[in-house]
Amino acid sequence: MIRTIIGGIIGYFISSYFNNESNKKLENEIKNLKQDQYKLNKYLSEETQRVIINSKKENMSVKELNEILYEKTIEENSLAPLPYKCCLKCGNENLKFSSPFYKGKTYYIANCEECEWKDWTS
Ligand SMILES: [Zn+2]
Repeated sequence: MIRTIIGGIIGYFISSYFNNESNKKLENEIKNLKQDQYKLNKYLSEETQRVIINSKKENMSVKELNEILYEKTIEENSLAPLPYKCCLKCGNENLKFSSPFYKGKTYYIANCEECEWKDWTS
């Protein structure tokens, strides 16, 4: 009888030790996930996050993400020097295009009206 009780007590401490270890592991995983989420929110624009969420893919490779972002931002068959559908930084679709002629060259400029993003070519 006493053996059974001692065995039960030892078993309880062993299982509670392993439960604590797996709880710590789980807490660490949650902490890491929260840090990753924070980084994603900090570095990816809301538009980019929407693209990822709306894609409904479970495992998206970098290549697939780039293809989706390319489709969202670049006019595929356009002959325009800057064939942007939207701002590459914030996703705003109101871009201002201009083509000033300067020192014998035409420059093509795209400016986002929402953020400071711009691109140019000649
Ligand atoms: Zn922008």
